[in-house]
Amino acid sequence: MDFLLTEEQKMLQDMVSKFAKEEIGPIARKIQEDETYPSDIVKALADLGVMGIAYPEEYGGAGMDFVSYMLAVEAISRYCASTGVIVSAHSSLAVDPIFRFGTDEQKKKFLPDLCSGKKLGCHALTEPGAGSDAGALKTTAKLEGDKWVLNGTKHFITNGANADIAVIFALTEPEQKTRGISCFIVEKDTPGFRVGKLEDKLGIRASSTSELIFEDCAIPKENLLGDLNKGFKVAMVTLDGGRLGIASQALGIAKAAIEDSVVYAKEREQFGGPISKFQAIQWMLAEMATEYEASWLLTYRGSLKKDTGKVYSKEAAMAKLKASETASFCANKAIQIHGGYGYIKEFDAERYLRDAKITEIYEGTNEIMRIVISANLLRE
Ligand SMILES: Cc1cc2nc3c(=O)[nH]c(=O)nc-3n(C[C@H](O)[C@H](O)[C@H](O)COP(=O)(O)OP(=O)(O)OC[C@H]3O[C@@H](n4cnc5c(N)ncnc54)[C@H](O)[C@@H]3O)c2cc1C
Repeated sequence: MDFLLTEEQKMLQDMVSKFAKEEIGPIARKIQEDETYPSDIVKALADLGVMGIAYPEEYGGAGMDFVSYMLAVEAISRYCASTGVIVSAHSSLAVDPIFRFGTDEQKKKFLPDLCSGKKLGCHALTEPGAGSDAGALKTTAKLEGDKWVLNGTKHFITNGANADIAVIFALTEPEQKTRGISCFIVEKDTPGFRVGKLEDKLGIRASSTSELIFEDCAIPKENLLGDLNKGFKVAMVTLDGGRLGIASQALGIAKAAIEDSVVYAKEREQFGGPISKFQAIQWMLAEMATEYEASWLLTYRGSLKKDTGKVYSKEAAMAKLKASETASFCANKAIQIHGGYGYIKEFDAERYLRDAKITEIYEGTNEIMRIVISANLLRE
């Protein structure tokens, strides 16, 4: 799809792909197995400008666009989907809402360290009783003097255990439900804020997923992000961009599954020749490649719409729905092409399948994506 990219975007893509192949690829399987958060890799990505690609240089970003960010997340996820989601949750879910909804003071205070990658961000919306129904959250924020006092528990938070800055959502007017939710910026080490249980996961095991616990956690009044009681809108707008990040992560996984399958099909011999000679294998590869390219174009379309300031909620949901199902499809077929070896941890195909599954679930399950898409169609 080179013809759609600018020279600058292609250069960025080449740079991140080279880094991912040489530096992340060799350790991806091991960090996944050991559940090791790749702090050195994240630091190196920060040095390359990847932690703030789509944000202005005045805030420590690389001053590029969202399409470049999509390409970078895909290139990283091609080798390590865990690192892909670390970057995506940081950029799409923490940096983006501060950039979009923050006051000048908030942007000056928080963005330079986040965009330069000196600090890591996370986004805490989900709670044990509030998943797809995010508006059912129970965490509260009460104004006491010049502080907001937070109480509640968030769970399943990507980067939760490693983040320096959390963008969180709490009820400021509980009886108003979604119209009574506000968004806040919470800094690590604030008294009353701690990381709770770390989850043991099927895939993306090198990224942390944890509880965040708030117990009479007092934050400055000026850490309210966006308007009072308008936090649900902040969450929904933020998730639109996040879904493109997850679609990009899914593209990387699908690409890995296809590339490994092509290599294996040419190398593995049965019945006196390579298995790539069998039409059954050729058709699987053809379907994988076609699904990938369709998913890439949808994700590119959503990213381009975001870059050009257009409404892209439906496109983001379509991109995530299609790309995530493509990632699972391609990873599943990769195992089939690898035969018994696909089921063995010596090869990466089984890792791709475990990593792919989560892209159908987080930042809105694919059932919720179908609801978003159909709601847009019925409104149009
Ligand atoms: C590894 C991981 C990382 C995550 N990272 C973050 C993060 O950084 N920040 C954050 O805030 N959250 C995060 N999440 C939470 C994630 O976004 C939620 O898990 C997801 O939105 C689904 O919510 P749930 O798990 O409560 O499932 P539920 O909402 O309980 O859904 C269960 C099933 O019911 C279906 N369902 C629910 N409602 C409907 C409906 N109206 N129509 C049809 N079907 C429906 C769902 O599609 C699903 O199949 C993460 C989760 C995981 C597992």
